[in-house]
Amino acid sequence: AAHRPLLEVSDLHAYYGESHVLHGMTFTVPEGEVVTLLGRNGAGKTTTMRAIMGMLKSRKGSIRFDGVETVGLPSNKVARLGIALCPEERGIFAGLNVQENLLLPPVVKPGGLSDAEVYELFPRLLERRYSQGTKLSGGEQQMLAIARILRTGAKLLLLDEPTEGLAPVIVQQIGELVRTLKHKGFTIVLVEQNFHFASTVADRHYVVEHGRVIDMFRNDDIEANRDKLASYLGV
Ligand code: ATP
Repeated sequence: AAHRPLLEVSDLHAYYGESHVLHGMTFTVPEGEVVTLLGRNGAGKTTTMRAIMGMLKSRKGSIRFDGVETVGLPSNKVARLGIALCPEERGIFAGLNVQENLLLPPVVKPGGLSDAEVYELFPRLLERRYSQGTKLSGGEQQMLAIARILRTGAKLLLLDEPTEGLAPVIVQQIGELVRTLKHKGFTIVLVEQNFHFASTVADRHYVVEHGRVIDMFRNDDIEANRDKLASYLGV
């Protein structure tokens, strides 16, 4: 069934100072889907996530979330609409323990997971709830970084390279987690370098190059488009 768009990015431009980085990004994220942004290093994927989150002041164009225009809103207002970002660098506070890290982001909307539900999804974090952030493995840090945005009430999760640097068995766990979150009704935008992983979790893929979307594939069609994708991604 076709779902209504939850996020509509159209003709989005963004700048770092004088440097023009996004050149008319246009893509749609249907409610309830997992969508990836694929593309080479420096294509503008992270910048797109930051722009959606309102972390880049210099933006032009349109970003509509649930019908509401967000270009021009500061990131705290964007968060309150129900969007959360899990950044590539994860942002775990080393001096806080798991539980303190988990409780850090404010709950902005009703309907987020309860603490008990979060721990049920991440039993490992429950076991380690009094461990300092520094004591966690890379995989545990990534799980914690995702876990803590589930409490906030956000409906749209922006996950920036959640599998980066992690062992295959942990990547698989993150794949299961993403599928579970989709079943729970979250809508997810995923930045990925790992195309194999992306193809196991996503409904559709947008290919980003030089700050714009140059193609889109439904996950069901990727076998038929393998050569084209390989040439885009340089793999
Ligand atoms: P990666 O996977 O390497 O993060 P990406 O597709 O996410 O790639 P971005 O991080 O969005 O790409 O970067 C897009 C462009 O913006 C690159 O040319 C990068 O050098 C530039 N850029 C990124 N961050 C900044 C910044 N803080 N100041 C200036 N230029 C930046």
